[in-house]
Amino acid sequence: MNRRELLQTLAATTAGLALTGREVAPAAAPAATTASFTTQVRRLELRHTWTTTMSSSATRDTLHTHYRRDGITGYGEGAGIVRYQQSALGGQKALEALLPLITAADPWSYEKLLKDLDRRLPGQRAALAAVDLALLDWLGKRMGVPIYRLFGLDPADAAVTNMSIGIDTPELTRQKVREAEAFPVLKVKVGLATDEATIDAVRSVTKKPLRVDANEGWTNKEEAVRKINWLESQGVQLIEQPLPAHMLEEARWVRARVHMPIFADEACHSAEDIPKLREAFDGIVVKLDKCGGLIEAQRQIHVARALGMKVMIGCMVSSSCTITAAAHLSPLVDYADLDGHLLIGNDPYSGVTVNKGKLILPSTPGLGVRLLADKKG
Ligand code: MG
Repeated sequence: MNRRELLQTLAATTAGLALTGREVAPAAAPAATTASFTTQVRRLELRHTWTTTMSSSATRDTLHTHYRRDGITGYGEGAGIVRYQQSALGGQKALEALLPLITAADPWSYEKLLKDLDRRLPGQRAALAAVDLALLDWLGKRMGVPIYRLFGLDPADAAVTNMSIGIDTPELTRQKVREAEAFPVLKVKVGLATDEATIDAVRSVTKKPLRVDANEGWTNKEEAVRKINWLESQGVQLIEQPLPAHMLEEARWVRARVHMPIFADEACHSAEDIPKLREAFDGIVVKLDKCGGLIEAQRQIHVARALGMKVMIGCMVSSSCTITAAAHLSPLVDYADLDGHLLIGNDPYSGVTVNKGKLILPSTPGLGVRLLADKKG
């Protein structure tokens, strides 16, 4: 065989290998199918009137979404945050205007769609979360894996959640603390002139570790230091947002004068906020409704970690849809405050369960939530 014949033979062999190649061909892109996206406002009824320094209410409306494609339905929810002038109806209206964009988008390229929606939904992060959750629930179901698997997490590492005690009379505070007997840690709302009476009421019933949330309730730095120093003598582990979000310089001043870790909640909205919080806070509070869903929450967690900060995952008053979604990310955090679904009496979903505070993640694909009722409300 001369050189020319050898080359011809090699070329033919290579062509044959290409035709009969043993390599697995990349999976074809899923065929384009029609999607539908529907929204509904549901009224959640609180077991106890819920009071913080922000508001007081007996019900909360949240926005629920269904993303349907290929015979699979993904569920989502967003709880608009009053402080940011968000409401379930406002979020619904904003999403309705973007239905063609959402239904035409390729769900496998969800980063592109979520970025696009974020640009088009200024100030509507809770509505964005309602899309993010529905898309990821759909993707998980389509792939047949729970959300924690998509993020590479071990469900055994799911966090222990505290139970929240809203602002109330000493008598009702004591009753709520007794009702929370199964939880190893409590989170108490403070930020008012009645703080000492509230903590005294809690301490008259339990010696459990406490976390407190002032929700920006103290407006001067000396008062914040005085109150935090007192709370340090009351078995309190950490405090959220003692001062208004914009008082960063004062927050740094307070941090230098107390021992308790201070977490930024209202001061932290996006991953871009976190570097400037580093000097004033020990950690951040991530909430799906505040940041826009699971993808942005994961980004915030990793940015905070890279800066050496602690992370708490928190929630608004929501159904088991949002709380289960947040619980899937809880193996990544130091603290969990995921009790929003336990504060309501008409949860339309089942999902994550809680055993002595430990979050038990569902192992079914997607979020693993099940719609219990489908009545309009
Ligand atoms: Mg908070």
